[in-house]
Amino acid sequence: MKICRTVFALLLVLFLTACAGEPELPVQDTGVLSAAPPAGNEPLPQPDISLETTAAPETKPPVTEPPATEPPVTAPPVTAPPVTEPPVTEPPVTAAPVTEPPVTASGEHTIEVIDGVTYIDGVLIVNKTYSLPADYPQKSLTPEALNAYWTMKQVAAAEGLTIKSISDYRSWYDQRYIYNGYVARDGQEAADRYSARPGHSEHQSGLAIDINSTAFDFDQTPEGIWLATHCVEYGYVIRYPKGKEEITGYLYEPWHIRYVGKELAQKLYLGDGQFITLEEYFGITSAYAE
Ligand SMILES: [Zn+2]
Repeated sequence: MKICRTVFALLLVLFLTACAGEPELPVQDTGVLSAAPPAGNEPLPQPDISLETTAAPETKPPVTEPPATEPPVTAPPVTAPPVTEPPVTEPPVTAAPVTEPPVTASGEHTIEVIDGVTYIDGVLIVNKTYSLPADYPQKSLTPEALNAYWTMKQVAAAEGLTIKSISDYRSWYDQRYIYNGYVARDGQEAADRYSARPGHSEHQSGLAIDINSTAFDFDQTPEGIWLATHCVEYGYVIRYPKGKEEITGYLYEPWHIRYVGKELAQKLYLGDGQFITLEEYFGITSAYAE
């Protein structure tokens, strides 16, 4: 019986020791505490706390702040446009011409006003826009106009034609007397179409002559036809051509010739008794200011 007890006791010890190693399973619920070797029933609570508290909490917050730094990156592109501004400084070079207009007529001609008298390219101009002062010193035909007239008259005479002056130089005061007489008779509007106001008559310049007759059909006479086609050879032009009233300011006057010199006369002559007016040639107007 003693042997049986002893065997039983040994079996009991073995059984108990075997059972003591198995209870470890429930402990594994707390996590992956593999570091702690199975040492019986000890719970080993410490490792759990250290692992859980050090991991998550602190690392998340810092991640959300950086995004605020991105916007500033798009600003730089503003520096490109300024490169196109420099060209603006070049135009000032074209501003200068603004001071020239008063000096030129049509761009290629030069106007000068000397002692109240207007000259374009050296040619004295008198019309409804440009006038002569009452005290303009010329008191007769100029020597050039007079000599040209006499030469022309002699050549015409050799051809059997009579060319004679019926009116040439006229003073400012004579013109005023004549003009006022026409205004009294026909009214100013009508008078202005065929008679110049004092200071605006070419006759005051000593460069104009009325030939033979102041009848409109003078251009049908042998002298009238000859004058229109030959006066240019002596430096004269028919100053108020037919159909140019809106340009010259005066009705057609086949008898009124103006001395401009042979060179300019040739430029103004179109042939067949036709002429370009001084207004057209120099690009100027002929109209009273009022
Ligand atoms: Zn005249």
